[in-house]
Parts: sequence; structure tokens; C-alpha cells
Amino acid sequence: MSGYKRFFVQADEVFGNKAEIRSAHNYISRVLRMRIGDKIVLCTQDGNDNLAQIERIDNNAVYCSILQTTLGENESTKDLSLFFGVMKGDKNDFVVQKAVELGVKHIYIFNSRYCVSDVSPNKLERLKKICASACEQCGRSVLPTVEYVDNFQQAVTIALESQNVLFCYENEQTKSFAQSLVDCQSTAIIVGSEGGFSDEEVQLLLNTHAQCVSLGKRILRAETASVFALSVYNALVGD
Ligand code: SAM
Repeated sequence: MSGYKRFFVQADEVFGNKAEIRSAHNYISRVLRMRIGDKIVLCTQDGNDNLAQIERIDNNAVYCSILQTTLGENESTKDLSLFFGVMKGDKNDFVVQKAVELGVKHIYIFNSRYCVSDVSPNKLERLKKICASACEQCGRSVLPTVEYVDNFQQAVTIALESQNVLFCYENEQTKSFAQSLVDCQSTAIIVGSEGGFSDEEVQLLLNTHAQCVSLGKRILRAETASVFALSVYNALVGD
């Protein structure tokens, strides 16, 4: 269903072969000025794409008939999570957008000792909007989760729920990221902020089943490291 504008709507807005869209009503009718007869794709977070045709628009909702429902083709079968330290400026926006395009299902932004910013509720809402917009652009059918974890220990605890946990550490001299990838169901990738990790945070991770891995001999910017790691993952074990 490529080529049609894609909207993430509430599950209860699509019922049977009908849809009554309220959540994206303003965007569809006033911003995009879509009209009766236009076709759109409605995603209800169950992995399905619903091809719909606009039948009526009033001040409250956009009313559609569902023409076809198919399983979205662009979701990965793998459960990939990215954990990255809060960065300054709009670098968090950039990494969230790239993580979506690279198939990440769960995005955790964590605070750690050398982070100089945090993620307010308003900033988190904005990151979720960037996530949804990136999903619409790249044709995904399920919105990844985007969460802020204020406590590093808690972020590590969540990451360790994955089968393979890759702790990207610039002082790692031997084990490479690529060699540490395993073709398993769930993988978590951990990347530090601009200031990196404190000794205590490194020690905490080394005392777990996380693999401490190198992304090469150069020190990458935090945002580069996330994109690089996700790209290598996709190239070698992603789908
Ligand atoms: N200690 C770094 C420095 O001297 O600039 C600061 C951290 S670096 C800018 C940001 C993060 O990217 C690191 O915490 C690490 O997770 C990841 N990273 C950067 N280069 C890396 C490399 N060569 N190998 C593994 N991880 C790397």
C-alpha cells in the first residue's frame, strides 16, 4: 500500500469495513485538505495496513470505508531496542527518526552521569510525534515505543531483558560490534551521550551479561554511534 498517505489512528476508530477518524481529523481535513474519494492507509498498531477511501468529512470526523486490510510488510520480525543517553539540542530528534527508519521497536532515552540535559514531558511528546512522522514516511505499520528513563540502573535492567545486549564502549579494544551480533529474537544496543559513561556506569554494565563492544578505532559522535550500530545490525542480522 505504498504511495498512499499513512495515518496512525486509535484501534476503535476502525470497525468492520468502516472508519470514523477523530484523532487525525484536523490533519487530514484542514492541514492536508484531503477530499471525498481520496484513499489513505490507516494503521491501528496491530501491524495491519487498512486501505481506506474517504466518504464524508464533517466538523468532527473523517468517515471512510475500508477497501482492503493487509499485514504491513515493513515491520521487522526482530525485537530491536535502542538505549541512548540524552543529548543536547535536536540530536535526540535525529536519533529517534533514524531509529524508526532502521526498524527499532523500542526506543529508550536514558539519563546518566554525564548527560547535561533531560527529557521533559513536552520534549518526550515531541519525540513521539517525530517517531510517528518517521513511521508514516518510511511506511511502518506499528509505532515504536519511545520512553525516557531517568535512572541509568533502571535502563540497564530493561536492556538486560533482551537476549543479546551490546554495550557500545569506545575504550573496548578487542571485541567488535559486528562479531558480537547474534541472530536472535531480541537485541538491545546501548550508546552513551556526548559525555559517555562514568566509570561506575561502565562497571555496572561489565558486571552483567551485556557484551562490551567496539564500533571501531575512532571515537564517534553519540548520534553517529547509534546510527552506525543500527546500520550494521540491519546489514548483518536485521530483516
Ligand atoms: N568518551 C567519548 C569521548 O571521548 O568523546 C565520549 C562518548 S562518545 C562521544 C558517545 C558514545 O558513542 C559512547 O559513549 C559510546 O557509547 C559510543 N561510541 C563512540 N565511539 C565508539 C567506538 N569507537 N566504539 C564503541 N562505542 C563508541
